[in-house]
Amino acid sequence: MDLAIAGKRALVLGASRGLGGASARLLHAEGVDVIAAARSAGEMTAAERFTPHVVDLSDRGSVEALIAHLGKIGGVDILVNNTGGPKAGPAMGQTRETWLAAFETMATSIFSITEAVLPGMIERKWGRIITIGSSGIEQPIGNLALSNGVRAAIAGWSKTLASEVARHGITVNMVLPGRIDTDRLRSIDKANAENSGKDLARVQEASIAEIPAGRYGDADEFGAVVAFLAGAGASYVTGSMIRVDGGLTRSV
Ligand code: NAD
Repeated sequence: MDLAIAGKRALVLGASRGLGGASARLLHAEGVDVIAAARSAGEMTAAERFTPHVVDLSDRGSVEALIAHLGKIGGVDILVNNTGGPKAGPAMGQTRETWLAAFETMATSIFSITEAVLPGMIERKWGRIITIGSSGIEQPIGNLALSNGVRAAIAGWSKTLASEVARHGITVNMVLPGRIDTDRLRSIDKANAENSGKDLARVQEASIAEIPAGRYGDADEFGAVVAFLAGAGASYVTGSMIRVDGGLTRSV
């Protein structure tokens, strides 16, 4: 499908693999000039057709350097906000430091990067801010307190921003993965198997049994929705949260 965004410039965070990697690939397939950001040059080997940029979102200095670079190149038309997920764990017993670290890595980093690209988007009267969230925003996931808590804040930020910039031709949306087959999901399944003393295959079977589609999603199925939201045809979709979860979330 031609999404009419060939020649636009995108920045995809956490682009070395998984959902960010698929988003970068699918945007690139539409002729978008993709800047793929990841923590180290080594991580970028799988993404040679993109322009690499090294950033560690948990390091404020590194985020500031990315912002300075964006200023030099004149910003981007499409921003895909994606970060690594936080450690699993319950709400009880988390320290102030763990909350602050999760908030800094997953929330304030992307708030600042978004802030840096908005002036250029306003000037060009066109922009797409797409933030990768989680089904946990709508239906909090057990033992993922940091993720549930910080992402709820991100959802409030995204929705507020959407109404502030809509009149400038900028859309602001979130895409919520359910269970997409990536390294992160595989490591969560492995941890659940270890914690419960069950066989990994059993844990995966039980996890898949909760999904009406009867399978985990493929990263490209997720990236296709990100690309759609970046496309010209999605110009009237803003302030939305789009689920890519095979029906996992039970609420309407
Ligand atoms: P992943 O672990 O496979 O990939 C994460 C990406 O983020 C990688 O490119 C990694 O290098 C990068 N990254 C990690 N920490 C970083 C840092 N400090 N600075 C810069 N980049 C960093 O994860 P994924 O499955 O692709 O998930 C992407 C996001 O979506 C995560 O926040 C995850 O928690 C969330 N999510 C994923 C699923 C799923 O089913 N895969 C479900 C719900 C939420």
